[in-house]
Amino acid sequence: MVKQTIQIFARVKPTKGKSCLYQVDEDDDGAPKLTFTVPKEYADGFINNKKDNYKFRFSKVFDQKTTQDEIFENVSKPVIDNALQGYNGTIFAYGQTGSGKTFTITGGAERYVDRGIIPRTLSYIFDKVEQSSDLTFTVHVSYLEIYNDNGYDLLDPKHEAAKLEDLPKVSLMEDSDQNIHLKNLSVHQAASEEESLNLLFLGDTNRMIAETPMNQASTRSHCIFTIHLTVRETGSATIRRSKLHLVDLAGSERVSKTGVNGVLLTEAKYINLSLHYLEQVIISLSDKGRQHIPYRNSMMTSVLRDSLGGNCMTTMIATCSVEKKNLDESISTCRFAQRVAMIKNDVLLNEELDPKLMILKLKREIQELKDELAMATGEQRTEQLTEEEVERCEEAVSNYINDSDPEAILCVGADMRKIHNCFKILKSRISERPSSKKSKSPPREATPVDTGPYNNSENQRLKELVLQRDNEINILVNMLKKEKKRAASNKLTNLNSGSRSPVSEDGDINGHLKSSSRPSLNGERKNQRRLSSRQILEEDEEVVTTSRREREKLKLRQEMDERRKTKILGKMSMGRQEAFDLFLRDYEHNDAIEENKARLKKKYSKAKSYGEQLNQAKTNINHLKSKIEQHRMHLAMNGLTDPDNPQPDDVEQHLREQMEAEKDLYKETFSKLKNLKTEIEHLQHFLEKSKVKLMKDFELWWVEQSQNTQEHVPQSVADNNVKTAWRTPPLTPLQHTTSQRNYSQELITPSSSTSSISQPLLSSRSRNDMARNIAANLYSAGNDVTRDYQLHNSVRTSQKYQTPSGLNDDIPLTGDPEADADIKAFIKARQNLLQKTQQGS
Ligand code: ADP
Ligand code: MG
Repeated sequence: MVKQTIQIFARVKPTKGKSCLYQVDEDDDGAPKLTFTVPKEYADGFINNKKDNYKFRFSKVFDQKTTQDEIFENVSKPVIDNALQGYNGTIFAYGQTGSGKTFTITGGAERYVDRGIIPRTLSYIFDKVEQSSDLTFTVHVSYLEIYNDNGYDLLDPKHEAAKLEDLPKVSLMEDSDQNIHLKNLSVHQAASEEESLNLLFLGDTNRMIAETPMNQASTRSHCIFTIHLTVRETGSATIRRSKLHLVDLAGSERVSKTGVNGVLLTEAKYINLSLHYLEQVIISLSDKGRQHIPYRNSMMTSVLRDSLGGNCMTTMIATCSVEKKNLDESISTCRFAQRVAMIKNDVLLNEELDPKLMILKLKREIQELKDELAMATGEQRTEQLTEEEVERCEEAVSNYINDSDPEAILCVGADMRKIHNCFKILKSRISERPSSKKSKSPPREATPVDTGPYNNSENQRLKELVLQRDNEINILVNMLKKEKKRAASNKLTNLNSGSRSPVSEDGDINGHLKSSSRPSLNGERKNQRRLSSRQILEEDEEVVTTSRREREKLKLRQEMDERRKTKILGKMSMGRQEAFDLFLRDYEHNDAIEENKARLKKKYSKAKSYGEQLNQAKTNINHLKSKIEQHRMHLAMNGLTDPDNPQPDDVEQHLREQMEAEKDLYKETFSKLKNLKTEIEHLQHFLEKSKVKLMKDFELWWVEQSQNTQEHVPQSVADNNVKTAWRTPPLTPLQHTTSQRNYSQELITPSSSTSSISQPLLSSRSRNDMARNIAANLYSAGNDVTRDYQLHNSVRTSQKYQTPSGLNDDIPLTGDPEADADIKAFIKARQNLLQKTQQGS
């Protein structure tokens, strides 16, 4: 057992704004420290203390310029190395919203170099797997999001959810030994880095899709990515197991210490209740006298129980934003870290015996002992050798004869029947040899085995040993039976309760995708405008058609995109689809998306050229190989080979050197291609994420448009329309909808501390521009003469927009002559019908 205090690190997020006074240096005794200086006039405001300098010690402080790579090297690598040895590990990021927790744990959303701890950890682990041929690894992955004390499985292979509530709900169960189990959390095996990354990306996208301004999941939820590892040395019966939690906690911001009227509150309250419980757990753990640790108060503290004061090597990264306005939160974050650093964990090596292998090993040992016993007691077995045993004797004799080592021995155990059989085989082999002369010496009689060195007490000892081993086997067999039974009954209860088994029956996400059908979204109608929006949404097909596999992957991704679109935006009416296309065309982040696509395109062509280089190197190697063979043949045919000197001649030596160089080139290119593939996977994921964001932005924009056009409609009708238009709430809250926000989990409604995170997504200017463009496009499409961009206000005020006489001016038309004619006909029919009914009554 290793005693280890939780390691704490601080990371300062780069800031462009005015930063507060802070310093990164070392204590007198060389310990890294972070110091915040609070100006006097501030001190009266929100920090209830007269101190000027706040100093905090850390294992290391990473200032603004620190790269993701440095964080990985310093913080994560030691934890992963230990996890690979069989010790549990946890890395969690703690800090206010926007301080860089997600950036640190998962990574940035645009650049490959910004990938965070999770993808780097996966790469590192699979590199180790490849390097250690003497070890057998298994890697499983799960991804849990905890929001409002409810757990959600982010890796549901069955579907991508549009809402958090649609994801499978995970619940806690406690066994009689008070161990926590997570029911319904799927665990997926990952056989390669690519598979594991795809799981991370799936969970990440799910997390993003499920986020709404109502739940603000990314700031208010905790995400726990867990890597389950087993390692076994080849041939050994012991397995080492470990769990590695990589945790992105909810924003730690608290309600401002000054109350509404400037009165100081005694204690700042967390906005997030579960973080409040986390603090309670930390306080109890750092207080040596405390017996009871209140883990059970929240799901997060229950899940992380081992990481906090249990069997785990735990590391915390305190993320700080050093803008002036965030000074108090940064100090709170560092204070929390200091408490965490006082916790000592007892870390155990998680080693266990694999019962199946153990049984095999023991069986072998028993057989050997039985043989030895038979030998010792002189007791001879009389039954015939089985076919298999005879075969094994044949094999042993062949090996013995063919072994050039003069010291070689023929070993078939101490069974006299086998020994006799081997002599028989040897004899027949000798007589079969055409050149061999008849053996002069008569066949030797089997010599009775000398049992001399064995005495009675030795017999007794061996007998006891056999008994003991028999006993052990029985126990292990029973264990195995129980285990099987439990697995079966688990499966049954899971089936009964309608829940899924913890390990996905269908780990193959792609397999699942392949089987689902593609929903038709765009309908059959395609026009020029739609094509241009397709260009934005879809990937450049020409670049990806490098190989069949890539083409298949592209198709899968496109299907996934379509499905995702339906999920987020619902089945789109024609008008909405049209609006979406236009929105896409003028979308403000198009440049970024295009940039990423261009980057991807470059990477694809680079990958293609690496592929070609690989093929070339392979051809060269084969060519050199046959050249060497030809050269040898030539020498042999001309009798130039010197049997006494098997060393290659100069020509061969030269060819060999060339071949080695080609092999090195091959290896180098191969590893470059592998890294490039990982990078491509990341870029594709970034692209996918920006598409999700685009759809979410469209939703937001759509609602705003609906509201704008509802301004003169009675309020109740407008509300109703907005609700239907707002299929899924937009990504960021709007000013006028703040009243709908759900603070059920909060202690106190947050004041200014969260307002900084809820800025509207589009500036009002860009929104107006967008509205103007869409209005112009929609309605000028119906007017063939000119596209008139003067239509900047509500659509309804447009003079150019003709409605048939007698029809209500408020009817929105699509601009498509055919569709509009249908709409008008429908409305006219409806009016006629209404009139008739009224006349009738
Ligand atoms: P949190 O998860 O704590 O709310 P994020 O990780 O989402 O914060 O970071 C907020 C923003 O700051 C993101 O746009 C992110 O890309 C950026 N960011 C955070 N840390 C860094 C960093 N070290 N370098 C560059 N950008 C960063
Ligand atoms: Mg975050």
